Amino acid sequence: MRIVLLGAPGAGKGTQCKRIVAKYGLLHLSSGDILRQERAAGSELGKKAQRYMDSGALVPDEIIVKMMVSAIREAPKADFVLDGFPRTANQASEFDKSLASNGEKIDIVLNLKIDDRIVAERMTGRRSCPKCGAVYHIENLKPKVEGICDKEGSKLIQRPDDSPEVVANRLKTYHLQTEPVVDYYKNNNIVYDIDANKDADEVGALVFEKLDALVKA
Ligand code: ADP
Ligand code: ADP
Repeated sequence: MRIVLLGAPGAGKGTQCKRIVAKYGLLHLSSGDILRQERAAGSELGKKAQRYMDSGALVPDEIIVKMMVSAIREAPKADFVLDGFPRTANQASEFDKSLASNGEKIDIVLNLKIDDRIVAERMTGRRSCPKCGAVYHIENLKPKVEGICDKEGSKLIQRPDDSPEVVANRLKTYHLQTEPVVDYYKNNNIVYDIDANKDADEVGALVFEKLDALVKA
């Protein structure tokens, strides 16, 4: 199964991807996580991406498509779930071309739909583990001990781009540049809308319902 998860910042893409991976054993590829790893390693790619990420703008398409295609080609598994990519219609069509040249295609797109007014609250409350990448929320998905990762025991951090000003820019960027990706895939009839305003377990149940149907088909 090759899956794409779409949705505004804070829609719960990362949270649901972890559940999908636990159930179906796919590879989880998050463009945001890969970019943050590149930045932490101080690579050329990481340096190029920095100013875009810090302001809430998108990193240029050529850089991102190349990065994601090579991540997929290096991956040990053929099946994957993508989180945060593609984020422009151009990324989606370039990516389709690359898959097609390998005889592959995207099987399903899950579009996590969330109201703008909920985004800010989700983002400012997000905390993550710098070691394992586990994602928590200060109100909605609390760790067992406040501020500490359940698995690693490490101190949770807040992403610098989750500040209210950058979140507002990221949301604008989403409406302008990423919403057209939904229409791009709708032309292929593979998009399912999911109400992502519900709590994480309810959203997870809706996601599994769609994926189970695909697995059985
Ligand atoms: P979120 O999970 O909150 O939606 P991400 O971690 O996916 O945020 O992305 C963080 C930042 O990384 C984005 O604001 C953008 O600058 C950059 N980025 C991630 N994925 C892409 C992409 N597919 N195209 C361009 N920029 C990207
Ligand atoms: P995205 O990858 O789409 O940016 P995340 O999965 O990182 O979103 O979730 C953003 C924040 O909202 C995190 O703090 C997460 O714990 C929390 N969260 C995720 N899904 C839900 C949900 N359905 N209800 C409430 N909070 C959620």
